[in-house]
Amino acid sequence: MTRICKNCNFENQDNYDYCAKCGTPLVEGLSPKTFIVYKNVETTINKKFLIISYLITIIFSFGGFVIDLIAKHTSMGFFSFFGFFMPFFLLQAKDNRIKKHGVVQLLLSFIGFLLFIRTLPL
Ligand SMILES: [Zn+2]
Repeated sequence: MTRICKNCNFENQDNYDYCAKCGTPLVEGLSPKTFIVYKNVETTINKKFLIISYLITIIFSFGGFVIDLIAKHTSMGFFSFFGFFMPFFLLQAKDNRIKKHGVVQLLLSFIGFLLFIRTLPL
């Protein structure tokens, strides 16, 4: 025996309370099934955002150092401080994959910072 949907005439198995096709109740007295739309929890990492974050970290971390090499004593190396912004921002992310990139960028900015320290006339 099948349960034929009154709404769409789909033949459902007799143990089905709701139409498998359209969700209309097949048994009298059942309230219409509300379809729960599951939000895709596994969010895909925005690759563009990651690339941009890497660019920002690299430009700030190494940009100042490079400028300081070309034009000496510009103190542009202080820009390397800004290189820590993106990594710390990424480390706040709940997604561990983004956090991982934050750690990598933190290392990058730290290297940039060390290079800047070396240019200081101490
Ligand atoms: Zn139906």
